[in-house]
Amino acid sequence: MNSAVNFNSAETLRLLYELSAQLATAIDLQTTLEQVITLTVRFLNTERGSLVVLDENNQPIDAAMINNGKMQFNNAAQFAAIVKHGLIAWVIEHRQAAFLNDTSVDPRWLKRMDDQPDQTGAKSAMCIPLEARDQLVGILTIVHPTPNQFSLEQFEFLKAVADQAGIAVHNALLFDSLETMHRQYFELFQDSIAAILITNRDGIILQANRSAYQMLAKNDSALAGSSIFDLHQAPYQLLGENFERLLTEDIVTYESLISMENSDDLPVKMFVRMMPRDLEGRIQWIIEDISESKQLETMRHDLLSMVYHDIRSPLSNVISSLELLKMMMPEDLDPNVDDVFSVISRSANRIQRLVSNLLDIDRLEMRQEIMDAQAVDINTLIETAISDVQPIMESRNQDFSLEMVDPVSELWVDEDMIRRVMINLLENASKYSPVGGKVSFRIEKDGEKSILFTVEDNGPGIPPDKLDMIFEKFTRVNYRKGPKGIGLGLAFCKMAVNAHGGRIWVKSDNESGAKFHFTLPTEAHESFQVAI
Ligand code: ADP
Repeated sequence: MNSAVNFNSAETLRLLYELSAQLATAIDLQTTLEQVITLTVRFLNTERGSLVVLDENNQPIDAAMINNGKMQFNNAAQFAAIVKHGLIAWVIEHRQAAFLNDTSVDPRWLKRMDDQPDQTGAKSAMCIPLEARDQLVGILTIVHPTPNQFSLEQFEFLKAVADQAGIAVHNALLFDSLETMHRQYFELFQDSIAAILITNRDGIILQANRSAYQMLAKNDSALAGSSIFDLHQAPYQLLGENFERLLTEDIVTYESLISMENSDDLPVKMFVRMMPRDLEGRIQWIIEDISESKQLETMRHDLLSMVYHDIRSPLSNVISSLELLKMMMPEDLDPNVDDVFSVISRSANRIQRLVSNLLDIDRLEMRQEIMDAQAVDINTLIETAISDVQPIMESRNQDFSLEMVDPVSELWVDEDMIRRVMINLLENASKYSPVGGKVSFRIEKDGEKSILFTVEDNGPGIPPDKLDMIFEKFTRVNYRKGPKGIGLGLAFCKMAVNAHGGRIWVKSDNESGAKFHFTLPTEAHESFQVAI
Protein backbone atom coordinates (compact mmCIF):
# COMPACT_ATOMS: atom_id res chain seq x y z
CA MET A 1 0.00 0.00 0.00
CA ASN A 2 1.19 3.52 -0.79
CA SER A 3 2.39 5.03 2.46
CA ALA A 4 4.07 8.25 1.35
CA VAL A 5 0.99 10.31 1.98
CA ASN A 6 -1.32 9.62 4.85
CA PHE A 7 -4.83 10.31 3.54
CA ASN A 8 -6.58 11.39 6.67
CA SER A 9 -9.04 14.21 6.23
CA ALA A 10 -6.70 16.92 7.51
CA GLU A 11 -4.04 15.89 5.01
CA THR A 12 -6.61 15.74 2.19
CA LEU A 13 -7.72 19.27 2.98
CA ARG A 14 -4.14 20.51 3.09
CA LEU A 15 -3.36 18.99 -0.32
CA LEU A 16 -6.54 20.30 -1.86
CA TYR A 17 -5.77 23.71 -0.46
CA GLU A 18 -2.28 23.56 -2.00
CA LEU A 19 -3.78 22.51 -5.33
CA SER A 20 -6.30 25.34 -5.37
CA ALA A 21 -3.63 27.88 -4.40
CA GLN A 22 -1.45 26.70 -7.29
CA LEU A 23 -4.33 26.62 -9.76
CA ALA A 24 -5.31 30.14 -8.83
CA THR A 25 -2.02 31.36 -10.33
CA ALA A 26 -2.49 29.45 -13.61
CA ILE A 27 -4.39 31.26 -16.35
CA ASP A 28 -3.56 29.57 -19.61
CA LEU A 29 -4.37 25.96 -20.46
CA GLN A 30 -0.83 24.62 -20.62
CA THR A 31 0.16 25.87 -17.17
CA THR A 32 -3.10 24.57 -15.74
CA LEU A 33 -2.55 21.09 -17.19
CA GLU A 34 1.02 21.01 -15.99
CA GLN A 35 0.10 21.96 -12.45
CA VAL A 36 -2.83 19.56 -12.14
CA ILE A 37 -0.84 16.60 -13.38
CA THR A 38 2.41 17.37 -11.52
CA LEU A 39 0.72 17.95 -8.19
CA THR A 40 -1.58 14.94 -8.49
CA VAL A 41 1.26 12.58 -9.35
CA ARG A 42 3.29 14.00 -6.46
CA PHE A 43 0.42 13.82 -3.94
CA LEU A 44 -0.27 10.19 -4.88
CA ASN A 45 3.40 9.30 -4.99
CA THR A 46 3.20 7.64 -8.35
CA GLU A 47 5.10 8.19 -11.55
CA ARG A 48 2.59 8.17 -14.37
CA GLY A 49 -0.48 10.23 -15.14
CA SER A 50 -2.21 12.03 -17.97
CA LEU A 51 -4.78 14.69 -18.45
CA VAL A 52 -6.67 14.93 -21.75
CA VAL A 53 -8.80 17.99 -22.52
CA LEU A 54 -11.93 17.32 -24.57
CA ASP A 55 -14.15 19.54 -26.68
CA GLU A 56 -17.95 19.37 -26.68
CA ASN A 57 -17.78 16.40 -29.08
CA ASN A 58 -15.42 14.55 -26.74
CA GLN A 59 -12.54 15.01 -29.16
CA PRO A 60 -9.15 15.72 -27.54
CA ILE A 61 -7.97 19.31 -27.98
CA ASP A 62 -4.93 19.19 -25.73
CA ALA A 63 -3.15 16.75 -23.42
CA ALA A 64 -0.34 16.58 -20.88
CA MET A 65 1.39 13.50 -19.57
CA ILE A 66 3.95 12.79 -16.90
CA ASN A 67 6.06 9.66 -17.10
CA ASN A 68 8.83 8.83 -14.64
CA GLY A 69 8.79 12.42 -13.48
CA LYS A 70 9.14 13.79 -17.01
CA MET A 71 6.50 16.18 -18.28
CA GLN A 72 5.47 16.03 -21.90
CA PHE A 73 2.77 17.84 -23.81
CA ASN A 74 1.10 15.74 -26.43
CA ASN A 75 -0.73 17.11 -29.30
CA ALA A 76 -4.39 16.30 -29.60
CA ALA A 77 -3.83 13.93 -32.54
CA GLN A 78 -1.72 11.60 -30.40
CA PHE A 79 -4.66 11.19 -28.04
CA ALA A 80 -7.28 10.81 -30.73
CA ALA A 81 -7.01 7.01 -30.73
CA ILE A 82 -6.62 6.69 -26.95
CA VAL A 83 -9.98 8.34 -26.22
CA LYS A 84 -11.73 5.87 -28.52
CA HIS A 85 -10.55 2.71 -26.80
CA GLY A 86 -9.79 1.28 -23.37
CA LEU A 87 -10.36 2.79 -19.96
CA ILE A 88 -10.56 6.45 -21.08
CA ALA A 89 -13.22 5.56 -23.68
CA TRP A 90 -15.23 3.76 -20.94
CA VAL A 91 -15.05 6.78 -18.60
CA ILE A 92 -16.07 9.14 -21.41
CA GLU A 93 -19.00 6.94 -22.32
CA HIS A 94 -20.24 6.39 -18.73
CA ARG A 95 -19.16 9.75 -17.28
CA GLN A 96 -18.08 7.73 -14.22
CA ALA A 97 -14.80 7.44 -12.36
CA ALA A 98 -13.01 4.06 -12.62
CA PHE A 99 -10.83 2.43 -9.95
CA LEU A 100 -8.63 -0.52 -11.08
CA ASN A 101 -6.56 -2.47 -8.54
CA ASP A 102 -5.09 -4.71 -11.23
CA THR A 103 -5.20 -3.63 -14.86
CA SER A 104 -4.21 -7.09 -16.12
CA VAL A 105 -7.58 -8.55 -15.10
CA ASP A 106 -9.81 -5.64 -16.14
CA PRO A 107 -11.21 -5.89 -19.69
CA ARG A 108 -11.49 -2.07 -19.84
CA TRP A 109 -7.70 -1.76 -19.77
CA LEU A 110 -6.16 -1.70 -23.24
CA LYS A 111 -3.08 -3.93 -23.22
CA ARG A 112 0.11 -2.25 -24.37
CA MET A 113 3.72 -3.30 -24.87
CA ASP A 114 4.75 -2.56 -21.28
CA ASP A 115 1.80 -4.60 -19.99
CA GLN A 116 3.56 -7.85 -20.91
CA PRO A 117 4.41 -10.00 -17.84
CA ASP A 118 8.11 -9.79 -18.64
CA GLN A 119 7.86 -5.99 -18.56
CA THR A 120 6.21 -4.02 -15.78
CA GLY A 121 3.05 -6.09 -16.14
CA ALA A 122 -0.05 -5.43 -14.05
CA LYS A 123 -0.65 -1.95 -12.67
CA SER A 124 -3.00 0.09 -10.51
CA ALA A 125 -5.05 2.79 -12.26
CA MET A 126 -7.60 5.48 -11.48
CA CYS A 127 -9.43 7.37 -14.21
CA ILE A 128 -11.73 10.33 -13.42
CA PRO A 129 -13.93 12.54 -15.64
CA LEU A 130 -13.33 16.30 -15.27
CA GLU A 131 -16.53 18.29 -15.41
CA ALA A 132 -17.50 21.94 -15.33
CA ARG A 133 -21.06 23.25 -15.60
CA ASP A 134 -22.29 19.73 -16.37
CA GLN A 135 -19.98 19.54 -19.34
CA LEU A 136 -17.21 16.97 -19.71
CA VAL A 137 -13.99 18.92 -20.19
CA GLY A 138 -11.32 16.23 -19.72
CA ILE A 139 -10.10 12.93 -18.30
CA LEU A 140 -7.51 12.58 -15.56
CA THR A 141 -5.72 9.18 -15.37
CA ILE A 142 -3.22 8.15 -12.70
CA VAL A 143 -1.30 4.88 -12.96
CA HIS A 144 1.11 3.08 -10.62
CA PRO A 145 3.44 0.37 -12.02
CA THR A 146 2.36 -2.18 -9.37
CA PRO A 147 -1.14 -3.46 -8.61
CA ASN A 148 -3.17 -2.66 -5.48
CA GLN A 149 -1.34 0.57 -4.86
CA PHE A 150 -4.23 3.02 -4.46
CA SER A 151 -6.66 3.19 -1.57
CA LEU A 152 -10.30 4.19 -1.78
CA GLU A 153 -9.41 7.34 0.20
CA GLN A 154 -6.98 8.22 -2.55
CA PHE A 155 -9.70 7.54 -5.11
CA GLU A 156 -12.02 9.94 -3.25
CA PHE A 157 -9.19 12.44 -3.01
CA LEU A 158 -8.61 12.20 -6.77
CA LYS A 159 -12.29 12.89 -7.37
CA ALA A 160 -12.02 16.05 -5.25
CA VAL A 161 -8.94 17.04 -7.26
CA ALA A 162 -10.90 16.45 -10.47
CA ASP A 163 -13.68 18.77 -9.26
CA GLN A 164 -11.23 21.62 -8.87
CA ALA A 165 -9.24 20.75 -11.97
CA GLY A 166 -12.44 20.64 -14.09
CA ILE A 167 -13.28 24.24 -13.26
CA ALA A 168 -9.66 25.33 -13.72
CA VAL A 169 -9.49 23.65 -17.16
CA HIS A 170 -12.82 25.19 -18.15
CA ASN A 171 -11.62 28.67 -17.15
CA ALA A 172 -8.32 28.15 -18.94
CA LEU A 173 -10.22 27.13 -22.10
CA LEU A 174 -12.31 30.30 -21.87
CA PHE A 175 -9.18 32.36 -21.34
CA ASP A 176 -7.50 30.74 -24.35
CA SER A 177 -10.50 31.36 -26.60
CA LEU A 178 -10.64 34.97 -25.39
CA GLU A 179 -6.98 35.34 -26.19
CA THR A 180 -7.50 33.81 -29.64
CA MET A 181 -10.36 36.19 -30.29
CA HIS A 182 -8.27 39.10 -29.12
CA ARG A 183 -5.43 38.04 -31.40
CA GLN A 184 -7.83 37.62 -34.33
CA TYR A 185 -9.36 41.04 -33.66
CA PHE A 186 -5.89 42.58 -33.52
CA GLU A 187 -4.90 40.90 -36.80
CA LEU A 188 -8.13 42.10 -38.42
CA PHE A 189 -7.39 45.60 -37.16
CA GLN A 190 -3.80 45.48 -38.38
CA ASP A 191 -4.55 43.91 -41.77
CA SER A 192 -7.66 45.95 -42.56
CA ILE A 193 -7.44 47.72 -45.92
CA ALA A 194 -9.01 50.75 -44.29
CA ALA A 195 -6.73 53.06 -42.35
CA ILE A 196 -7.84 53.02 -38.71
CA LEU A 197 -6.78 55.16 -35.76
CA ILE A 198 -7.91 54.75 -32.16
CA THR A 199 -7.81 57.80 -29.92
CA ASN A 200 -8.90 58.60 -26.40
CA ARG A 201 -11.48 61.31 -25.77
CA ASP A 202 -8.75 63.95 -25.71
CA GLY A 203 -7.97 63.02 -29.32
CA ILE A 204 -4.61 61.45 -28.46
CA ILE A 205 -3.76 58.60 -30.86
CA LEU A 206 -3.42 55.32 -28.93
CA GLN A 207 -3.20 52.88 -31.83
CA ALA A 208 -2.87 52.97 -35.60
CA ASN A 209 -2.97 50.06 -38.03
CA ARG A 210 -0.57 49.35 -40.88
CA SER A 211 -2.78 51.02 -43.51
CA ALA A 212 -2.89 54.18 -41.41
CA TYR A 213 0.89 54.34 -41.16
CA GLN A 214 1.15 53.80 -44.92
CA MET A 215 -1.53 56.33 -45.83
CA LEU A 216 -0.19 59.00 -43.52
CA ALA A 217 3.43 58.13 -44.36
CA LYS A 218 4.36 58.07 -40.70
CA ASN A 219 6.05 55.56 -38.43
CA ASP A 220 4.88 54.29 -35.02
CA SER A 221 6.67 56.88 -32.97
CA ALA A 222 5.40 59.77 -35.11
CA LEU A 223 1.74 58.75 -34.78
CA ALA A 224 1.18 57.15 -31.38
CA GLY A 225 0.87 59.82 -28.73
CA SER A 226 0.25 62.64 -31.22
CA SER A 227 -3.09 64.38 -31.51
CA ILE A 228 -5.78 63.73 -34.14
CA PHE A 229 -6.24 67.51 -34.26
CA ASP A 230 -2.67 67.90 -35.56
CA LEU A 231 -3.59 65.67 -38.49
CA HIS A 232 -6.73 67.49 -39.59
CA GLN A 233 -9.29 70.07 -38.56
CA ALA A 234 -12.04 68.14 -36.78
CA PRO A 235 -15.47 69.76 -37.27
CA TYR A 236 -16.73 70.51 -33.76
CA GLN A 237 -20.24 71.22 -35.01
CA LEU A 238 -20.49 67.57 -36.19
CA LEU A 239 -18.52 65.83 -33.44
CA GLY A 240 -19.52 68.10 -30.57
CA GLU A 241 -17.19 69.64 -27.99
CA ASN A 242 -15.52 66.71 -26.23
CA PHE A 243 -17.08 64.43 -28.87
CA GLU A 244 -20.41 64.30 -27.06
CA ARG A 245 -22.32 63.95 -30.33
CA LEU A 246 -20.67 60.56 -30.77
CA LEU A 247 -22.64 59.38 -27.74
CA THR A 248 -25.91 59.80 -29.62
CA GLU A 249 -24.87 59.31 -33.27
CA ASP A 250 -23.86 55.84 -34.51
CA ILE A 251 -21.27 57.20 -36.84
CA VAL A 252 -20.28 60.72 -37.89
CA THR A 253 -19.01 61.16 -41.45
CA TYR A 254 -17.32 64.16 -43.02
CA GLU A 255 -14.74 65.12 -45.62
CA SER A 256 -11.52 66.77 -44.60
CA LEU A 257 -7.89 67.38 -45.50
CA ILE A 258 -5.01 65.62 -43.74
CA SER A 259 -1.85 67.69 -43.51
CA MET A 260 1.06 65.67 -44.86
CA GLU A 261 4.70 66.36 -44.09
CA ASN A 262 6.25 65.99 -47.52
CA SER A 263 3.35 66.32 -49.92
CA ASP A 264 0.12 68.21 -50.56
CA ASP A 265 -2.79 67.91 -48.14
CA LEU A 266 -4.59 64.59 -48.61
CA PRO A 267 -8.38 64.75 -49.22
CA VAL A 268 -10.06 62.14 -47.02
CA LYS A 269 -13.44 60.97 -45.81
CA MET A 270 -13.62 60.34 -42.07
CA PHE A 271 -15.93 57.85 -40.35
CA VAL A 272 -15.85 58.51 -36.61
CA ARG A 273 -17.56 56.54 -33.88
CA MET A 274 -17.31 55.81 -30.20
CA MET A 275 -16.07 52.26 -29.75
CA PRO A 276 -19.07 50.20 -28.62
CA ARG A 277 -19.15 48.89 -25.05
CA ASP A 278 -15.83 50.56 -24.35
CA LEU A 279 -15.96 52.02 -20.85
CA GLU A 280 -12.89 54.16 -21.41
CA GLY A 281 -14.69 55.88 -24.28
CA ARG A 282 -12.13 55.33 -26.99
CA ILE A 283 -12.86 56.66 -30.46
CA GLN A 284 -12.35 54.91 -33.76
CA TRP A 285 -11.44 56.95 -36.84
CA ILE A 286 -11.62 55.18 -40.21
CA ILE A 287 -9.90 57.25 -42.90
CA GLU A 288 -10.70 56.83 -46.58
CA ASP A 289 -8.35 58.38 -49.12
CA ILE A 290 -10.61 60.18 -51.61
CA SER A 291 -7.89 61.94 -53.58
CA GLU A 292 -8.65 59.92 -56.72
CA SER A 293 -12.39 60.57 -56.67
CA LYS A 294 -11.72 64.27 -55.99
CA GLN A 295 -9.43 64.41 -59.00
CA LEU A 296 -12.07 62.69 -61.13
CA GLU A 297 -14.71 65.12 -59.87
CA THR A 298 -12.54 68.09 -60.82
CA MET A 299 -11.89 66.56 -64.25
CA ARG A 300 -15.60 65.91 -64.77
CA HIS A 301 -16.41 69.43 -63.72
CA ASP A 302 -13.75 70.96 -66.00
CA LEU A 303 -14.88 68.79 -68.90
CA LEU A 304 -18.55 69.73 -68.46
CA SER A 305 -17.73 73.43 -68.20
CA MET A 306 -15.69 73.14 -71.37
CA VAL A 307 -18.54 71.41 -73.21
CA TYR A 308 -21.10 73.98 -72.01
CA HIS A 309 -18.89 76.86 -73.03
CA ASP A 310 -18.15 75.29 -76.37
CA ILE A 311 -21.86 74.85 -77.06
CA ARG A 312 -22.72 78.32 -75.87
CA SER A 313 -20.59 80.39 -78.21
CA PRO A 314 -21.64 78.76 -81.53
CA LEU A 315 -25.23 78.84 -80.27
CA SER A 316 -25.00 82.58 -79.64
CA ASN A 317 -23.75 82.93 -83.21
CA VAL A 318 -26.75 80.96 -84.50
CA ILE A 319 -29.17 83.15 -82.52
CA SER A 320 -27.64 86.47 -83.56
CA SER A 321 -27.36 85.33 -87.20
CA LEU A 322 -31.02 84.37 -87.13
CA GLU A 323 -31.97 87.80 -85.83
CA LEU A 324 -29.84 89.42 -88.52
CA LEU A 325 -31.37 87.24 -91.19
CA LYS A 326 -34.84 88.13 -90.00
CA MET A 327 -34.02 91.85 -90.25
CA MET A 328 -32.76 91.34 -93.78
CA MET A 329 -35.93 89.61 -94.89
CA PRO A 330 -38.52 91.62 -96.90
CA GLU A 331 -41.49 93.11 -95.06
CA ASP A 332 -44.01 91.04 -96.95
CA LEU A 333 -42.45 87.77 -95.89
CA ASP A 334 -44.52 84.66 -96.43
CA PRO A 335 -46.16 84.01 -93.00
CA ASN A 336 -45.11 80.35 -93.18
CA VAL A 337 -41.45 81.32 -93.49
CA ASP A 338 -41.94 83.71 -90.58
CA ASP A 339 -43.34 80.87 -88.48
CA VAL A 340 -40.38 78.68 -89.34
CA PHE A 341 -38.05 81.48 -88.28
CA SER A 342 -39.83 81.78 -84.93
CA VAL A 343 -39.64 78.04 -84.28
CA ILE A 344 -35.89 77.98 -85.03
CA SER A 345 -35.11 80.98 -82.88
CA ARG A 346 -37.31 79.79 -79.97
CA SER A 347 -35.62 76.39 -80.03
CA ALA A 348 -32.15 77.92 -80.20
CA ASN A 349 -33.03 80.21 -77.26
CA ARG A 350 -34.31 77.23 -75.32
CA ILE A 351 -31.06 75.30 -75.78
CA GLN A 352 -29.13 78.38 -74.77
CA ARG A 353 -31.20 78.76 -71.59
CA LEU A 354 -30.70 75.10 -70.73
CA VAL A 355 -26.93 75.35 -71.18
CA SER A 356 -26.82 78.55 -69.11
CA ASN A 357 -28.88 76.87 -66.37
CA LEU A 358 -26.49 73.93 -66.30
CA LEU A 359 -23.49 76.25 -66.10
CA ASP A 360 -25.13 78.21 -63.29
CA ILE A 361 -25.99 75.05 -61.33
CA ASP A 362 -22.35 74.09 -61.55
CA ARG A 363 -21.15 77.52 -60.47
CA LEU A 364 -23.66 77.87 -57.64
CA GLU A 365 -22.85 74.38 -56.36
CA MET A 366 -19.23 75.50 -56.13
CA ARG A 367 -20.56 78.35 -53.97
CA GLN A 368 -19.52 81.05 -56.39
CA GLU A 369 -21.14 84.40 -55.76
CA ILE A 370 -23.58 86.22 -58.03
CA MET A 371 -21.29 88.56 -59.94
CA ASP A 372 -23.69 90.37 -62.28
CA ALA A 373 -26.30 91.66 -59.85
CA GLN A 374 -27.50 95.18 -60.51
CA ALA A 375 -30.63 97.31 -60.41
CA VAL A 376 -32.96 95.84 -63.02
CA ASP A 377 -36.21 97.31 -64.29
CA ILE A 378 -38.85 94.84 -63.20
CA ASN A 379 -41.29 95.58 -66.01
CA THR A 380 -38.78 94.91 -68.77
CA LEU A 381 -37.64 91.75 -67.02
CA ILE A 382 -41.17 90.38 -66.71
CA GLU A 383 -42.07 91.39 -70.22
CA THR A 384 -39.10 89.62 -71.82
CA ALA A 385 -39.70 86.50 -69.72
CA ILE A 386 -43.38 86.37 -70.65
CA SER A 387 -42.69 86.98 -74.34
CA ASP A 388 -40.55 83.86 -74.35
CA VAL A 389 -43.29 81.60 -72.99
CA GLN A 390 -46.34 83.24 -74.49
CA PRO A 391 -46.08 81.37 -77.82
CA ILE A 392 -46.13 78.05 -75.92
CA MET A 393 -49.22 79.08 -73.94
CA GLU A 394 -50.93 80.29 -77.08
CA SER A 395 -50.20 77.05 -78.87
CA ARG A 396 -51.86 75.27 -75.94
CA ASN A 397 -54.77 77.63 -75.91
CA GLN A 398 -54.13 78.62 -72.31
CA ASP A 399 -55.43 81.68 -70.58
CA PHE A 400 -52.58 83.78 -69.13
CA SER A 401 -53.02 86.65 -66.67
CA LEU A 402 -50.48 89.04 -65.17
CA GLU A 403 -51.27 90.93 -61.99
CA MET A 404 -49.01 93.60 -60.52
CA VAL A 405 -50.54 94.20 -57.06
CA ASP A 406 -48.16 96.91 -55.78
CA PRO A 407 -46.28 99.47 -57.79
CA VAL A 408 -42.73 98.12 -57.87
CA SER A 409 -40.02 99.26 -60.22
CA GLU A 410 -36.65 97.69 -59.53
CA LEU A 411 -35.02 94.45 -58.47
CA TRP A 412 -31.37 93.95 -57.51
CA VAL A 413 -30.58 90.76 -59.41
CA ASP A 414 -28.57 89.05 -62.13
CA GLU A 415 -31.04 89.83 -64.89
CA ASP A 416 -30.33 86.92 -67.21
CA MET A 417 -30.38 84.40 -64.37
CA ILE A 418 -33.68 85.62 -62.89
CA ARG A 419 -35.30 85.80 -66.34
CA ARG A 420 -34.48 82.12 -66.71
CA VAL A 421 -36.04 81.43 -63.27
CA MET A 422 -39.28 83.12 -64.35
CA ILE A 423 -39.29 81.36 -67.73
CA ASN A 424 -38.74 78.00 -66.03
CA LEU A 425 -41.67 78.44 -63.66
CA LEU A 426 -43.99 79.86 -66.34
CA GLU A 427 -43.01 77.13 -68.78
CA ASN A 428 -43.66 74.43 -66.14
CA ALA A 429 -47.05 76.00 -65.32
CA SER A 430 -47.99 75.79 -68.99
CA LYS A 431 -46.38 72.40 -69.60
CA TYR A 432 -48.10 70.69 -66.65
CA SER A 433 -51.53 72.33 -67.18
CA PRO A 434 -54.12 70.97 -69.59
CA VAL A 435 -54.77 72.45 -73.01
CA GLY A 436 -57.16 75.36 -72.46
CA GLY A 437 -55.96 75.70 -68.84
CA LYS A 438 -55.09 78.80 -66.82
CA VAL A 439 -51.75 80.32 -65.80
CA SER A 440 -51.33 83.43 -63.71
CA PHE A 441 -48.32 85.51 -62.65
CA ARG A 442 -48.69 87.80 -59.65
CA ILE A 443 -46.18 90.34 -58.33
CA GLU A 444 -46.49 92.08 -54.97
CA LYS A 445 -44.41 93.62 -52.20
CA ASP A 446 -43.02 91.38 -49.51
CA GLY A 447 -41.99 93.87 -46.83
CA GLU A 448 -39.80 96.88 -47.60
CA LYS A 449 -36.91 95.31 -49.50
CA SER A 450 -38.33 92.23 -51.11
CA ILE A 451 -40.80 91.28 -53.84
CA LEU A 452 -43.00 88.19 -53.80
CA PHE A 453 -43.72 86.46 -57.11
CA THR A 454 -46.43 83.81 -57.53
CA VAL A 455 -46.88 81.54 -60.54
CA GLU A 456 -50.13 79.61 -60.40
CA ASP A 457 -51.69 77.05 -62.71
CA ASN A 458 -54.70 74.75 -62.75
CA GLY A 459 -52.81 71.59 -63.69
CA PRO A 460 -52.69 68.32 -61.72
CA GLY A 461 -50.68 69.86 -58.85
CA ILE A 462 -48.00 68.08 -56.85
CA PRO A 463 -48.50 65.33 -54.24
CA PRO A 464 -47.93 66.73 -50.70
CA ASP A 465 -45.07 64.30 -49.96
CA LYS A 466 -43.17 65.52 -53.04
CA LEU A 467 -43.41 69.25 -52.36
CA ASP A 468 -39.84 69.61 -51.04
CA MET A 469 -38.32 66.93 -53.21
CA ILE A 470 -39.11 68.55 -56.55
CA PHE A 471 -36.46 71.21 -55.90
CA GLU A 472 -33.76 68.56 -55.84
CA LYS A 473 -31.76 67.77 -58.96
CA PHE A 474 -33.19 65.12 -61.33
CA THR A 475 -36.40 64.71 -59.29
CA ARG A 476 -39.48 64.23 -61.41
CA VAL A 477 -43.03 63.33 -60.37
CA ASN A 478 -45.10 61.05 -62.59
CA TYR A 479 -42.31 61.27 -65.10
CA ARG A 480 -43.56 58.30 -67.13
CA LYS A 481 -46.98 59.78 -67.80
CA GLY A 482 -46.34 63.53 -67.78
CA PRO A 483 -44.52 65.85 -70.18
CA LYS A 484 -40.85 65.29 -70.88
CA GLY A 485 -38.08 66.96 -68.86
CA ILE A 486 -34.85 66.22 -67.04
CA GLY A 487 -35.68 67.47 -63.56
CA LEU A 488 -33.10 70.25 -63.39
CA GLY A 489 -35.32 73.33 -63.87
CA LEU A 490 -36.56 73.69 -60.29
CA ALA A 491 -33.14 72.79 -58.85
CA PHE A 492 -31.70 75.68 -60.84
CA CYS A 493 -34.54 78.02 -59.71
CA LYS A 494 -33.92 77.19 -56.05
CA MET A 495 -30.16 77.68 -56.29
CA ALA A 496 -30.55 80.94 -58.22
CA VAL A 497 -33.19 82.41 -55.89
CA ASN A 498 -31.29 81.33 -52.75
CA ALA A 499 -28.05 82.77 -54.10
CA HIS A 500 -29.87 86.13 -54.37
CA GLY A 501 -30.89 85.82 -50.70
CA GLY A 502 -34.48 84.95 -51.61
CA ARG A 503 -36.72 81.95 -50.88
CA ILE A 504 -38.70 79.65 -53.13
CA TRP A 505 -41.47 77.25 -52.17
CA VAL A 506 -44.57 75.62 -53.59
CA LYS A 507 -48.11 75.06 -52.36
CA SER A 508 -50.33 72.49 -53.91
CA ASP A 509 -53.13 70.24 -52.76
CA ASN A 510 -52.53 67.90 -55.67
CA GLU A 511 -55.90 68.67 -57.26
CA SER A 512 -56.38 72.32 -58.01
CA GLY A 513 -53.02 73.07 -59.52
CA ALA A 514 -49.68 74.30 -58.19
CA LYS A 515 -48.71 77.69 -56.71
CA PHE A 516 -44.98 78.49 -56.86
CA HIS A 517 -43.80 81.43 -54.74
CA PHE A 518 -40.40 83.10 -54.71
CA THR A 519 -38.95 86.27 -53.26
CA LEU A 520 -36.18 88.53 -54.56
CA PRO A 521 -34.44 91.62 -53.16
CA THR A 522 -35.00 95.17 -54.36
CA GLU A 523 -31.64 96.35 -53.04
CA ALA A 524 -28.07 95.11 -52.86
CA HIS A 525 -27.49 92.53 -50.18
CA GLU A 526 -24.65 92.08 -47.68
CA SER A 527 -23.98 88.61 -49.00
CA PHE A 528 -25.88 87.13 -51.90
CA GLN A 529 -24.37 83.71 -51.52
CA VAL A 530 -26.31 81.94 -48.77
CA ALA A 531 -26.70 78.28 -47.87
CA ILE A 532 -28.17 76.37 -50.78
P1 ADP B 1 -38.72 68.95 -65.40
O1 ADP B 1 -39.88 69.83 -65.66
O2 ADP B 1 -37.65 69.03 -66.41
O3 ADP B 1 -39.11 67.54 -65.07
P2 ADP B 1 -38.37 70.57 -63.03
O4 ADP B 1 -37.23 70.61 -62.07
O5 ADP B 1 -38.75 71.85 -63.66
O6 ADP B 1 -38.00 69.48 -64.08
O7 ADP B 1 -39.62 69.99 -62.25
C1 ADP B 1 -39.48 68.86 -61.45
C2 ADP B 1 -40.80 68.09 -61.34
O8 ADP B 1 -41.71 68.89 -60.59
C3 ADP B 1 -41.46 67.85 -62.65
O9 ADP B 1 -41.01 66.64 -63.23
C4 ADP B 1 -42.92 67.78 -62.28
O10 ADP B 1 -43.22 66.46 -61.87
C5 ADP B 1 -43.04 68.68 -61.08
N1 ADP B 1 -43.60 70.00 -61.44
C6 ADP B 1 -42.92 71.14 -61.67
N2 ADP B 1 -43.76 72.15 -61.94
C7 ADP B 1 -45.01 71.65 -61.87
C8 ADP B 1 -46.31 72.21 -62.03
N3 ADP B 1 -46.52 73.50 -62.31
N4 ADP B 1 -47.37 71.38 -61.87
C9 ADP B 1 -47.18 70.07 -61.56
N5 ADP B 1 -45.98 69.49 -61.40
C10 ADP B 1 -44.90 70.27 -61.54
